[in-house]
Amino acid sequence: MAESFRTFRHVGMALDPIHVGTGGARLGRVDLTIARDPVTGIPKIPGSSLAGVYRSYAAMVRNRFPRCAGVGQPRPDGSGGHCGKPTCPICTVFGFARGQDSSGGFAGLAAFSDAHLLLFPVATREGPLWVTCPMALETAEVISLGVTDDAVYRGQDGGGPLNLGWLLLPVRSLSGWQQVQTGLTSLGVPDEISRRLGVLPDKLFAHVVNSNLEVRTSVAIDPATGAAEEGALFSYEALPRTTVLCWQVTCKNPAHFRVGSSEVAFAGAGQQVTIEDVHGVVADAHPYLEHLGIGGMGTRGMGRLRVLRPQQGPSPGPAEAE
Ligand SMILES: [Zn+2]
Repeated sequence: MAESFRTFRHVGMALDPIHVGTGGARLGRVDLTIARDPVTGIPKIPGSSLAGVYRSYAAMVRNRFPRCAGVGQPRPDGSGGHCGKPTCPICTVFGFARGQDSSGGFAGLAAFSDAHLLLFPVATREGPLWVTCPMALETAEVISLGVTDDAVYRGQDGGGPLNLGWLLLPVRSLSGWQQVQTGLTSLGVPDEISRRLGVLPDKLFAHVVNSNLEVRTSVAIDPATGAAEEGALFSYEALPRTTVLCWQVTCKNPAHFRVGSSEVAFAGAGQQVTIEDVHGVVADAHPYLEHLGIGGMGTRGMGRLRVLRPQQGPSPGPAEAE
């Protein structure tokens, strides 16, 4: 029986600070905060934000479908909105709010997880260190064991305590260091980053991340005059440049779905659309994520996210007979 879905993992690195906000929530002294996981308090990019950005970039690539890029509510006269056709790669992959005949919507063949922090850069007296924790590594299926103490776990212990920002921590040696390195390399994480890794216990990771977010102050510009608005100084949080994030895209098998009463048919006449085709539409967005970015403040040089290319490890070849 054909598989009903497949999950594709993607890992991306921030080329600029990234601000994906919460819609104006104010936390402490920061005016514009970024989205966080409500349980762990760790910043994330919500899957809904990812889906929206992927959709608009994929629609730019397949530019026969510009009206299918946005939120899709038709105008009062019935024009505009998502086309909702079974031949539309954007509407079938990302879903649409209602059909041409107002018969309802379609959930879409691709579903996006939140993008979780995998590696987060922190300044230390030895230069930048990218911190992570067992929970963050596990979302990328990299296992690290024995991280129990309030300490930073590295390739070897020794030396004095290390400062992460203003927090001073003892250094411990991580058992299974090489395994974690191999796991990160297979995800496409550059060696310069994975070599400078520090694993923290989950709770301490959340604390260190939240104490080391970028906070910028900016001036609101009056769009009418192009001048700074008086008294319009505001501050905003961002994930720093070189933060590494991990997210998953679950692609359903189009053969199991009908749009209205029709098969999904964007691959061309008579051609069965596959799970790979669905993921292909999603992956179309990746060059745009790298060049146009995600989140707010794009006009302030923020938001570019490079999707890393996973490395294929040396596959165990067939055993050679002597
Ligand atoms: Zn469409």
